Order: sequence, then structure tokens, then C-alpha cells
Amino acid sequence: MYDGIVQDLIDEFGRLPGIGPKSAQRITFHILQSPNFDVSHLAELLAVVREKVRFCEVCGNVSEQERCSICRDPRRNVSLICVVEDAKDVAAIERTREFRGLYHVLGGAISPIAGVGPDDLRITQLMQRLADGTVQEVILATNPNLEGEATATYLSRLLHSLEISVTRLASGLPVGGDLEYADEVTLGRAFEGRRSI
Ligand SMILES: [Zn+2]
Repeated sequence: MYDGIVQDLIDEFGRLPGIGPKSAQRITFHILQSPNFDVSHLAELLAVVREKVRFCEVCGNVSEQERCSICRDPRRNVSLICVVEDAKDVAAIERTREFRGLYHVLGGAISPIAGVGPDDLRITQLMQRLADGTVQEVILATNPNLEGEATATYLSRLLHSLEISVTRLASGLPVGGDLEYADEVTLGRAFEGRRSI
């Protein structure tokens, strides 16, 4: 334990996801001991991000405008929608350069244990996007774990009544893992080998 504001800062960093007490202490001391570390730039970035960044009104991806850069890009294939759990997955798939369609971010996955049901996800918005018949294929790219599989199963049943091809990413992704941590080659191959469900 440290005195006053130093401990306050360590505690604050420690509240961030993925940062334990030791990392929080390391970051704090890095800032304290590096006179060149631009604290005001970091503070300004945090404030601007909080103020300007929101979620795309169409797909739910992070965006500085009402529509994200992917939804605004006329070169994207509008007949393909890739459904993911969150915006971090969009970034992971974009890095593979394997997919040129649009996305739909659900905002999580169905999890009875965590109390997350279909109504808590952006499923109604997805159905609205599919209503006009433009979309020919929906790729379910939820995480290859229990919740992700449950969500994919739920969606495939829901989409069954529509005349849209529904596919799921090929196996080869580490089971129980998180899409955002899959390497680009594996994720790219999973796209190429996607199968109908
Ligand atoms: Zn968008």
C-alpha cells in the first residue's frame, strides 16, 4: 500500500479489465518515473474518446459518426452480414482481410448464468436489417464457446424461416476460446471454410 493519491491511481488502473494489482502498480510507477510520458495527451484522449466515440446506429460497431466507416464504405458487399458478439470481434475479422461484407454486433451472447437472454442482444435490429431481402447470407461468427454456440443455434433457428443462407465459421478455431484472440491465419481459414447450418 502507498500513500494517498499514488494508491488511488493504482486502485483506479486495477479496476480496468485485464489489469491486476501488479500491473496497476507497474503502470503507475512507469508514469511517475518517466518525465517524458505525456500525461495530458493521455488525459485528453480519454476525454475525447468518451465524448466522441459511440456505436454505429446500423451495425453496433464503434464509430465517431452515426454510421461506422464499414457501413459507409460503398465497396463493401451488402449481401453478406457477419454476426459477432462485440466490436472487438469486428476488428479481429477485419485484420484477416478475408471478409468484405457488413457486420452486425450483438452486444454479447446468450448466457442463462449471466442472466443474458435474446432480448438483451441486438437481435431485433438484425431482423430489421434482413427484412428487405438485400442480404443473401448471414455468417454466424459468435465465439466458439458454450454461450457463442447457444447464440448461434438460437439465431439459426430464428433465421430458418427467411430465405437466407445461414453459415457458421469452420472448426479449427480453438474451442472455448475467444474470437478476438484467434490468430489471423486461423480466423481467415475459418471464414473460407464456413459451412451451412
Ligand atoms: Zn456500422
